[in-house]
Amino acid sequence: MAMALGIVFGFIFSAFEGGGTFVVNWIKPFGNIFIALLKLLAIPLIFASLISGIAQLKDIARLSKIGFRTIAWYLTTTVLAVSIGLLLVNIIKPGKMMKEETRIALLEGFETEAATSALKAKDQTSSGPLQFLEDIIPENLIHAASDNTNMLQVIFFALFLGIAMIMIPENKSAPVRDFFVSLNEVILQMIHIVMKAAPIGVFALLAALVVEAPNGDLFVALLSYALTVLLGLATLLSLYSFIMWAVAGIKPKRFFKAMAPAQLLAFSTSSSAATLPVTMDCVENRLGVDKEVASFVIPIGATVNMDGTSLYQAVAAVFIAQAFNIDLSLMAQLTIVVTAVLASIGSAAVPSAGIVMIVIILNQVGIPEAGLALIFAIDRPLDMCRTMINVSGDAMVAGIVAKKEGKLYDEAAMKIKE
Ligand code: ASP
Repeated sequence: MAMALGIVFGFIFSAFEGGGTFVVNWIKPFGNIFIALLKLLAIPLIFASLISGIAQLKDIARLSKIGFRTIAWYLTTTVLAVSIGLLLVNIIKPGKMMKEETRIALLEGFETEAATSALKAKDQTSSGPLQFLEDIIPENLIHAASDNTNMLQVIFFALFLGIAMIMIPENKSAPVRDFFVSLNEVILQMIHIVMKAAPIGVFALLAALVVEAPNGDLFVALLSYALTVLLGLATLLSLYSFIMWAVAGIKPKRFFKAMAPAQLLAFSTSSSAATLPVTMDCVENRLGVDKEVASFVIPIGATVNMDGTSLYQAVAAVFIAQAFNIDLSLMAQLTIVVTAVLASIGSAAVPSAGIVMIVIILNQVGIPEAGLALIFAIDRPLDMCRTMINVSGDAMVAGIVAKKEGKLYDEAAMKIKE
């Protein structure tokens, strides 16, 4: 309801003089505060939940089995997502529908944004093939934890600490384990407190989004591209619910009912990292995934598994090529599959991270970087939708891994647990 009210409020206020400024000055800050509170809890939550989760596993063989399954599912679903995106964009060909004058207007209008993104992406690509591995290992924990885009480094440390804890005798690790288990409880309570303010935060975010949106004509020009992305995301979501039902025996109704709060929050914040606390809560307490599995699968998924983003990146890259009349060979399309998978893994779980990483794909297949300017105008709404899918994909894998491990509770068992 707050989302819908926020949108209506935004439209009403953008209709009169000074209304937009009022929303930006007096309403938007509450949305920003809400996101900041959620982000504030993301790193402490990763720490506490991952360490307490691993400590309960008791042996490393279990951990590596869960780890292997998780990574295998994450990779498979991301490749599936990119393939759906490529298939649709090649059939619909939205880039061919764009008028020449729109193309020129967009290229000129968003030149600076495109150049800034290209620069940001260069920072990440100017290094060797194993740089990503080097980047996972932090030199300093405090430094790693000081930036929400470094979550993988924090996860690495938490895993490392958790594994070492399993390796020493239980009586010696008990105080540390108890500390993290208790910290985890406290942080979950903090999340519940923040979520009480969710309606206010979400209202403010959407009202601000509406008043700050670029003019409607650009949206219309990019409609066929946006619809291609949305169709792909919808297809992916339907596939998720099918896979969830076929592999984990969870019916679509239960899946969507359980995940709705996380999906709506992902939609409002455009950030998997900010949504992480709520995703964890939904997966554990509403979907019935045991803490042992959820505390491992979900934080890693929020950082590396972005199916919605990878689908979007593939569609966007081919769309730009089509708009520039560049024909992509089969080899180029296969290169897009590989680079989009990597680019989505490398995208940070924050708003607009996905668009920056498209530069990597464009470079690989020789499409001009300036083409990025074509898709900026409509990026935010698509970001909201793809983030929703990113979060749903993590939840699906958590459900499947839990099922295979015998750690998925049905509704009756969850009631008893409560
Ligand atoms: N906003 C997305 C996320 O946080 C990443 C992206 O820009 O695609 O999941």
